[in-house]
Amino acid sequence: MPQPPARDIYLLSPKTLSPETIAVAFAKTSRSPESFRDIAAELSDEQSAKFHERWVVGYGHASVAEHAVLHIAVENISRLAIECLESNRLASYTEKSTRYQLWDLTHYYTPRTIAAGPLAGLYQQTVARLFVAYRASVEPVRALMQHKYPRKDGESEARWDGRIRSRYVDNCRFLLPAASLANVGVTANARVLESAIRKLLSHPLEEVREIGAAVKAVAQAEVPTLVKYANEVPYQWETAAALTAAARPVVGGGPAGADVQLVSYDADAEDQFLAACLYRYGGAAFAQCAVAVSALTPAQKAALADEALRRLGQYDVPLRELEHVSYTFDAVMDQGGYFELKRHRMMTQSPQRLTCDLGFAMPRAFEEAGLRVEYQAALEAAAEAYRRLAAELPEEAGYVVPNAFNRRVLMTLNLREAFHLCELRGTPTAHFSVRRTAGQIYAHIARVHPQLARFMRCRDNPTWPAIEADYFVKVA
Ligand SMILES: Cc1cc2nc3c(=O)[nH]c(=O)nc-3n(C[C@H](O)[C@H](O)[C@H](O)COP(=O)(O)OP(=O)(O)OC[C@H]3O[C@@H](n4cnc5c(N)ncnc54)[C@H](O)[C@@H]3O)c2cc1C
Repeated sequence: MPQPPARDIYLLSPKTLSPETIAVAFAKTSRSPESFRDIAAELSDEQSAKFHERWVVGYGHASVAEHAVLHIAVENISRLAIECLESNRLASYTEKSTRYQLWDLTHYYTPRTIAAGPLAGLYQQTVARLFVAYRASVEPVRALMQHKYPRKDGESEARWDGRIRSRYVDNCRFLLPAASLANVGVTANARVLESAIRKLLSHPLEEVREIGAAVKAVAQAEVPTLVKYANEVPYQWETAAALTAAARPVVGGGPAGADVQLVSYDADAEDQFLAACLYRYGGAAFAQCAVAVSALTPAQKAALADEALRRLGQYDVPLRELEHVSYTFDAVMDQGGYFELKRHRMMTQSPQRLTCDLGFAMPRAFEEAGLRVEYQAALEAAAEAYRRLAAELPEEAGYVVPNAFNRRVLMTLNLREAFHLCELRGTPTAHFSVRRTAGQIYAHIARVHPQLARFMRCRDNPTWPAIEADYFVKVA
């Protein structure tokens, strides 16, 4: 009796096949009955390139390019440039941490447009002053943390420092400007890389455009066809210019200080989630599920929510049906906190330009370490330099803005991502800036959707006002 073919699961290894060939081997399974192994064995790099020209580039079967994955090392780019690089949702990044490393005094970028102009001296002076204040703050803040978290019996100096290191570096980092250089490891498939290169090449900052050209060159050496047509996109900068003009007369409002406002949510979202659960595990139309849920008493709804979420273990991901519930927040937070928040890819973020216009945060540790005056003076000097630079070069002026200054961002996220964000960033080991913002997001959700928020595993964390009182003298 003829047997069905046996199950076979194996790796198409990038050690033996090029990324473009792997992508073609997978793509061809759509039309070929042969095994991937056999398809790959028949392919040459030239044939793969031809295939991609025809199918990916010619017919727009772009998802094929997702099977070609690259790991690109990007070193010594400014943290302002990193924002554009990391704005691609479907890639993966790991960057030099402002929590675990200290920056050297010279590790910052100077844009050519500023270096060649009359404000070059002001820029160098301002950034150098911030770096000096940053380095000078390390020992006093470290001594403060040593006093607060004394060495344990038998603990080595190195182990003690490791235990408290993020506590002092977390504070010092408020002084680091966006010009600070960092390294980023990027893992991305050729499809997202093409989109990233387009965005980089179309950016208003010269540094970012140069990074785009370099990333393209590196990628093309590995996937010659798939990123070949990644070029600058006039739509991107022309639209940015048009909308900047349209937005100019619209001023004021928004969150006061470093606050988070819930600007939009669905008041019926708890019912919506419960109906989606009945829908997924039953056979009725959604309208019927919604009617069934609306007929339940509050206690019955609570019991159904229990069934959906009470079995969540510490490391479990909650049901996907939470993605039917979404929120939009207008949020202001310090740039250091924003830099961490922006890494959450399962949401839509619209950040405004980095400026010195929304005030700055002052961590309590600076006051306790007797550094309040130096801290404030360095930041006020940065704000003054920012204003003078912004009058000439509004994009490049962002380089002098330190992490302490506030940033405004519109965020739309679903409740499943909110669970993840509030839990990961609300934990006491997270940086206190992002903990405060995560706490604000949680507080809004708990207020409008208490029946779902009670399952968020951040519910017992300190509240955001408590975090603010513990860690900040002021937040704006
Ligand atoms: C203790 C700690 C230390 C950190 N240190 C550093 C550091 O030194 N340097 C640094 O750059 N970052 C650091 N981070 C940030 C971290 O790497 C993440 O970028 C950040 O926490 C965003 O979290 P996320 O990727 O889980 O979430 P999101 O991007 O919000 O994604 C939500 C969820 O979707 C899923 N998901 C999203 N994208 C993918 C994907 N591509 N593949 C598979 N699943 C995916 C995951 O389940 C993820 O939890 C640190 C974070 C923590 C908590």
